[in-house]
Amino acid sequence: MFKADGQFLAGILLAFMCTTMGQAPPGGKPTGGGGGTQACTNPTCSSPPCIASRLGDVGCTTVDGVETISHEMKAKGATISSNAHIYGAFEAGFSEQQKSIIEGWGCTDASVVYDTQGGLDISIAEKKVAHACNVELPRVVGNNYIGIVGLCGGHTKDYHFHRSLECLYTQTGGHSPAVGNVAQYKLFGKREDFANSKLPLLDARGAHFGPTPDSNGASVYHYHVQDSAPFTVGCVGPTADNKLVSVAACRALDSTNCDGVFVDVHIGPNTIVKYDRFCPCFDANGSNSGINIVELPALSTTKISCTVSGTCANNTNNPSSSTPIQDGQKSQSGSQSGIISASATWTPLGTLLLMMSRAITTF
Ligand SMILES: [Zn+2]
Ligand SMILES: [Zn+2]
Repeated sequence: MFKADGQFLAGILLAFMCTTMGQAPPGGKPTGGGGGTQACTNPTCSSPPCIASRLGDVGCTTVDGVETISHEMKAKGATISSNAHIYGAFEAGFSEQQKSIIEGWGCTDASVVYDTQGGLDISIAEKKVAHACNVELPRVVGNNYIGIVGLCGGHTKDYHFHRSLECLYTQTGGHSPAVGNVAQYKLFGKREDFANSKLPLLDARGAHFGPTPDSNGASVYHYHVQDSAPFTVGCVGPTADNKLVSVAACRALDSTNCDGVFVDVHIGPNTIVKYDRFCPCFDANGSNSGINIVELPALSTTKISCTVSGTCANNTNNPSSSTPIQDGQKSQSGSQSGIISASATWTPLGTLLLMMSRAITTF
């Protein structure tokens, strides 16, 4: 349904009580709350493809990392231990429970971003909050990273990643190392070939076929972290016949969440994005609306990675189709719409704003 502006201002925004609201959207699973820390549970998917949890674990990390700049309760230098939760792109809504957190982002009236429905991805959620509160998100203030998630892509006391995971691996060499497990698949860092500046071409699930550092040259279906939604995992596994997943196939699998019911998300004075809450199937323009889908480049090529300028590399045994990619066609990250792309840029500021003053146990 389309929200009128009045409703927008009253009911707005997004995201955030991932684990404690006890309110699961279609396809999501309730993940009890209380603000404590809970062990990560890697989901199983015995007969791929499987719908991924919208508000809970889509996978678990397999390596430790160190937070490089303070965010919420994680101080600079704090360890993020292995077996941390990996969530998908979405947050579950905002309410008064997050008032102090929202104020910590610089919102003078937190209520303008309350939204009990949730289901916006972290990136568009930040854009919506930034617009509604007239602040920059994310940003660095003094020694603190101000954003819905930290620089490493996670948040809350029961720490869970939504994106980035960049503090779990070093950007060096060729294919990024593995950072987590997603059912029987692995999630790797964002690079297909760091030395040659190539990003992977990914399907609508966030994965592709290709050799990995530990596959002994075999082409295997594996996930990559990406800068645009779904950031980690859209759904689990390739198609039933072991192919890359198109946007349409992704939507068909997850038709409960990708139901064509839109909300108008205001992210700028004259910029409104039609958004399908909790739908994890994003097209080449970064849209999850299902309207005029622009298929992902990965679905029409044997190439598995490209530079942003369109220099691509082959996979000799990619089980997808064989149409060559066009010169200049961008890699998946480079091709995403600026409107929804994750934009991990942040600007150091010289002044300190009021920081969150209480322990963060939810969202
Ligand atoms: Zn979260
Ligand atoms: Zn790869």
